[in-house]
Amino acid sequence: MYLWKNSKVKKSSKLYSILKFKCPHCHEGNFFKSNNPYNFSSMSEHREKCSECGEKFSLEPGFYFGAMYVSYALGVAHMVSFVVAKWVLEIEMEFWNFIILVASSLILITPLYYALSKIVWANLFMNYKKKKDEKFIN
Ligand SMILES: [Zn+2]
Repeated sequence: MYLWKNSKVKKSSKLYSILKFKCPHCHEGNFFKSNNPYNFSSMSEHREKCSECGEKFSLEPGFYFGAMYVSYALGVAHMVSFVVAKWVLEIEMEFWNFIILVASSLILITPLYYALSKIVWANLFMNYKKKKDEKFIN
């Protein structure tokens, strides 16, 4: 499953790698073993290295622990967007019903945020390497 499968995002941009779950180095190979974050057997497990360029996806042991910062930011942005939407659209709702709505939507979207946090974290530290004459240069 790709996010925005037919998007017109430029290939060399980090957004391309993030939205299409592609290798941060070459934007060709798949980053995850399964591109569907709701495939619970692989649960957004990333590959050891890229099938196209051979670059490793983990820079050091425990590299993806830092992805929890991205996951936290996504969760907070999710909750804030619900509060802002409730305020702007002037939706009348009891407090605990609103909390249950936000919490249940967050639980449903957590697998997607988990995958996004890992690929965003990888893209923070890995850069696109332009392909030129069969070699990858920086
Ligand atoms: Zn690659």
